[in-house]
Amino acid sequence: MIRTADVVVIGGGISGCATAFNLAKRGCKKVVLLEKGYLASGSTGRCAAGIRQQWGTEMNCLLARDSIRIFENISEELGGHYDIELKQGGYLIFATTEKEVAQFKKNIELQHRLGVPSRLITPEEAREIVPHINTDLMIAATFCQTDGHCNPFLATQAYADAARKLGVEICTYTEVKGIKVEKGKIAGVVTDKGEIATRVVLNAAGGFAGEIGKMAGVDLPFYPERHQALVTEPVEPLQAPMVMSFSYNIYCQQTPHGSFIMGYGDPHEPKSTVLNSTWDFLQEMARKVTRILPKMKDIRVVRQWAGSYDMTPDRQPILGAIPEAEGFHVAIGFSGHGFMHGPMTGVLMAEHLLGMETSMRIDMLGVERFAKGELIFEPSVV
Ligand code: FAD
Repeated sequence: MIRTADVVVIGGGISGCATAFNLAKRGCKKVVLLEKGYLASGSTGRCAAGIRQQWGTEMNCLLARDSIRIFENISEELGGHYDIELKQGGYLIFATTEKEVAQFKKNIELQHRLGVPSRLITPEEAREIVPHINTDLMIAATFCQTDGHCNPFLATQAYADAARKLGVEICTYTEVKGIKVEKGKIAGVVTDKGEIATRVVLNAAGGFAGEIGKMAGVDLPFYPERHQALVTEPVEPLQAPMVMSFSYNIYCQQTPHGSFIMGYGDPHEPKSTVLNSTWDFLQEMARKVTRILPKMKDIRVVRQWAGSYDMTPDRQPILGAIPEAEGFHVAIGFSGHGFMHGPMTGVLMAEHLLGMETSMRIDMLGVERFAKGELIFEPSVV
């Protein structure tokens, strides 16, 4: 392990690996990425890896739209041949109330202005796209064909591999134990394998970002929250898009291998890094999904697991510098939608860390927004 670095990135998920790659691509010479487990062992490897551009704020639409463009051209972007199993079967998001339909119409107007090819559809059209969907529950839906999902392990490995080729040192099974701060400035990172002197640290530690913040003497407005998911046995292709509902609080998709991956947001989940799986989740998930997609009752569950949502008070990420410790930066708080924004997080954080003009505005995502009361309201979250 090198002993001095221009930038130390903490966290080997999609955010850390994409940032490390983009730093090296922009000429940053000594970049080290530290990961306490294996790459994608955090939320990235536990997520559904859904990618949707159907958001209700300009910022989220742009982050997802531009990230999808990168995912679509990943080999060109990373300079090698990389298959990340990208499948663009669309996202079908159904509405159950007139209030939701009114919000969806507003969202679509915004999405069209930003070049996102979404559309409002009737329940009958929804059934044409997903023949086994129960349309009794919905009054309308939106659909965007270019949404989809990919394999989060392959995507993270692709970024890491391309970063290594550009000289980034990626240290897996290397845990950050402390951060040295001298006279209010970052001076180094202490790991279980030794110390690295550096003036710049990026905290991309997902659900553990709060602990990393404390090591630098900073209390971040952030908390981890458990979210659970399950995967079924593989079956024949039944469903191209991700089916999602904000009011039913559910998502369900079929992967290219035939397995269904699904989850829902339970407001009673523990706000900690506890990652055990529960019977209640399995039972409630089965109840919810078989109501919306009745064919699911014939498909067997293979496995369930849990991961962390890294949550902020407004459920939007914190990107940028932390003023209390000069040289300490964060890309955290993705609140359940950080995989789909990963490619753009990497671009924007690299530009920010190198003092370049960022490709899109990120000032509104700074940590200062919480003290100023300038929270972001995104109506479309699960
Ligand atoms: P992580 O992937 O959590 O990476 C952080 C890394 O930091 C971890 O690997 C961890 O081991 C490492 N680390 C922590 N502490 C230390 C330390 N002290 N030293 C060294 N390393 C350390 N997002 C979507 O966009 N679409 C979805 O469909 C989606 N579905 C989801 C479903 C579930 C069940 C869950 C849990 C999340 C889902 N998400 C989804 C959210 C998504 O997983 C995250 O927002 C995203 O993966 C965050 O990536 P990250 O790189 O910031 O964090």
